[in-house]
Order: sequence, then C-alpha cells, then structure tokens
Amino acid sequence: MSSADRGIVIAVDGTSGSGKSSTSRGVADRLGLRYLDTGAMYRALTWWMLRHGVDVHDPEAVAARCGEPRIVSGTDPLAPTITVDGEDVAAAIREPDVNAAVSPVSAVPDVRARMVALQRAAIDEARQGPGIVVEGRDIGSVVCPEAPVKVYLSADAGARANRRAAEEGGSDVGATEASLLARDRIDSGRAVSPLVMAEGAVHIDTTAYSLDEVIAQVVALVEQLESIGSGS
Ligand code: C5P
Repeated sequence: MSSADRGIVIAVDGTSGSGKSSTSRGVADRLGLRYLDTGAMYRALTWWMLRHGVDVHDPEAVAARCGEPRIVSGTDPLAPTITVDGEDVAAAIREPDVNAAVSPVSAVPDVRARMVALQRAAIDEARQGPGIVVEGRDIGSVVCPEAPVKVYLSADAGARANRRAAEEGGSDVGATEASLLARDRIDSGRAVSPLVMAEGAVHIDTTAYSLDEVIAQVVALVEQLESIGSGS
C-alpha cells in the first residue's frame, strides 16, 4: 500500500522562513498528496480584518468579526490558491501590512477555533482520498496530533531571513530578519496553541541542507513508516 492509498497526514511545523512551504509542497508533489498552507489561512483572515478597518490589536474586536469572511484554500501542491469571499488574495496576504498584523490576529482564541475547524475539515476530506501535507505552527500539536508523520523544521535566523528576502524579490534582509523574529516571539509566547515541537515530531535543522535534501529526508520518514506498516 502506498502513502496515497491510505490518506496519510504529514504535519510540518516550524518557525517563519524555516522552509516549511517549499518542503511541504515538494513532499506533497513527490508523494501525490494534497497540500494545505494554514499560515495562508491566518494571513487571509488578517487581510480581511485590515480591509474592514478592524483594530488588529484589539482581541475582542477581532474575535467579534472572525466568523464573517469565507476563506477557501485550494490544495494542489503545484498551484495552491487562497480566496476570501471569492477574491484571490494570494499576493495581498504576503504584503508587509499583513506580515505585521498576522501574529496578533492568530493569537486570538476564537480565530484559532475557527481556523482549526476549517483545517480539520480539509484534512478529513483529503484522508478520503490521497492524503495531505499540512504546514503551520500547531499542526502536530493541536490540529492533527494523530498525524503518523510529524516534522519540525528550524533554521538559523540569518539563513531564514536570506531565503525569505530572496523569495520576496530581494527585500531588505535586516528588516526581514527583524520581522521573522518578531513573529516567532509572538507565535511561541501566545497562550493558545503556541509554536512548540509536537510530541513525536522529528526535528530537522534545515540551515545546512538544500531544499531537495530536506524533501528527501521527509519522504524517507514516510517510506520508513510504510515499511514498518507492511512488515518489510
Ligand atoms: O506560515 P506563515 O509564516 O505564512 O504564517 C503566518 C502567521 O500565521 C504565523 O506567524 C502565525 O502567527 C500564524 N500561524 C499560526 N498557526 C498556524 C499557521 C500560521 O498561528 N498553524
């Protein structure tokens, strides 16, 4: 039986810029699985709050309105999509105003409850089919603690900032590093579902590895699991 036959869930958590997205998409592509970017969902909700003039530093105001937008994620790893009320927001959610506001919005318990429910629905659907790679901060710890493969990615702050700045078309590395570290601090320190390494997760420090090497390490974990499952 291959990983595609039994609807496997692979949880990929880690700090901002540790290579979660590229790794998760690459693994999903290699194994024929779906791909869910939960960070994009929190970003989409944050974008909507900013557009509607909600004070993102007022948790009650954010909680009061977080049920309003309709957020839909497309889970093709080669062409993931994200819409809010039918509008394509893939580019808008990567803008600096969203970067700066997403962590405080994501710390609001009602926001997390709503996003986790949407994420679990997408995971349940993918389990009926090929299975799914899900990336975020709390996938292995909260959203899907039963995932049979859990990975925690980290990398030196400098390496993360260089990668992210290059992805963003050469933006300032120092400012990018400061923004990543600020988000890490809030994400790790929040009361609800802080960024932690989930029980049973395999830690990969990606600093010294190429993307292909990290993808190969995660694929090897899945193959190991399959060989245990098949008794070979
Ligand atoms: O992964 P990405 O950097 O796009 O995530 C943006 C932000 O969304 C994170 O800094 C974090 O505040 C929030 N997030 C979260 N839980 C997740 C995924 C993302 O709180 N599962």
